Amino acid sequence: MADVSALDTWIEAHVDDLVAAVQSSVRVPSVKGEPDGPGSPYGREVRAALDDALDLCRSLGFAVSDIDGHAAHAEFGQGAEMVAALGHLDVVPAGDRWTRDPFGGELVDGFIYGRGTSDDKGPTIAALFGAKALMESGLPLQRRVRVIFGCDEESGFSCVKHYWDVAGQERPAAAFAPDAGFPLVYAEKGICDLALTLQRPAGCGGLRVVAATGGRRSNMVPDAAEARIGGPADALAAAAGQLAGYWDRNVTYAAEGDELVVRSIGKSAHGSLPQEGDNAIVRLARALRTLPLGADVAWAGRLVETGDPAGSGLGIEGRDEVVGPLTCNMGILEVTDDCVRVVYNVRYPVLWEFATLIHRVEAGLAGGQWVLAQTRNGPALYAPLDAEPARTLMAVYREVTGDTVTKPLTMGGGTYARATPNAVAYGADLPGSQDGPAHEPDERIAVSTLVTAAKIYARALHALANVSL
Ligand SMILES: [Zn+2]
Repeated sequence: MADVSALDTWIEAHVDDLVAAVQSSVRVPSVKGEPDGPGSPYGREVRAALDDALDLCRSLGFAVSDIDGHAAHAEFGQGAEMVAALGHLDVVPAGDRWTRDPFGGELVDGFIYGRGTSDDKGPTIAALFGAKALMESGLPLQRRVRVIFGCDEESGFSCVKHYWDVAGQERPAAAFAPDAGFPLVYAEKGICDLALTLQRPAGCGGLRVVAATGGRRSNMVPDAAEARIGGPADALAAAAGQLAGYWDRNVTYAAEGDELVVRSIGKSAHGSLPQEGDNAIVRLARALRTLPLGADVAWAGRLVETGDPAGSGLGIEGRDEVVGPLTCNMGILEVTDDCVRVVYNVRYPVLWEFATLIHRVEAGLAGGQWVLAQTRNGPALYAPLDAEPARTLMAVYREVTGDTVTKPLTMGGGTYARATPNAVAYGADLPGSQDGPAHEPDERIAVSTLVTAAKIYARALHALANVSL
């Protein structure tokens, strides 16, 4: 009769396969793209990453189901109920300043480098190998075991909404999302996108911002922004002269055609940690408001105020005792001839109501020309530690690692754990690891992390498949 140590043995014997599988997935640049026909709702590259994963699952002996290219799963075992690991194969864009190929999957000094290594291809594939170890062990299971691959985690969870709400897939009796940190995450802030717009008056002959852009995703701190300024040649020359003496070396300018182009660079960071980045839109706006741009000076000033990571510029600063302070990331700027549009990614305390937050934003806009044009909300998650699945997952983590000290976590990042009941985020980042950082240059994961995570996930799936829920 096998015992759970057989899980470790199998994983240790298949480390090379685990590494190769992660490398193969990382080599597919699965950034969300335009729909590419049936089965490719998120574009060709995401489809390719899903195919790569499903080929792997088949080769490992799982039964696979592809849910219209939005998500897919691998499953084994018998039972009326099912437990699941729920990861994702889409990645955020690489961004700049990598010292390694972001889609090379290079293995250097025990780390695999590349976009998606830690968020979330590595952890997801570690969970799959954990499930495979369990399959091979022959240990008795009361429930089926499933690994679910989502394909649109980074921009709105439409994948898992399709999986459950449209396709009517079975809900797991208990689940974890291998997409954060160990020991586990029991509270996730509420997450919303707020799009504010301002209608621009027509130009009146002086200097004017013709167009401006910054940021690619609301959930990343923008690392680049630019504005194109048009107007009379002598006024453009004067503005260039002014910028020549401007203090910020991260703001540059160039005459291009009959326009003056102002560019700024910042530092990217995850949208849940805006204070760790350096917002390029704020740098750009700070420079613009020093120029004689007429009506544009006012909105540039507003961008500087609302770029505050604590949300005070939007009137929504605050905190609760579970997850701490609200954060606010000004993620996207789009200025066209008639409109300024800004998208903020806000992470708010678990004990707050979304409606109250919106009320505060609207109160701050009252009497002005800015409009709250669009909102998208992901409610907070707050899972009790003395109930399943947190109780079992915490025990498994402690048993495998021997770490009985590290406390369960809360965070501002949102995971799939909030997309289905009885779920928490669980690894794969280990306390003190040098993996990550997610959404930044030189993202990486240690092979040792993958191995430890796979062992934890194997035992976790085994325990959840048998625990009374
Ligand atoms: Zn992720």
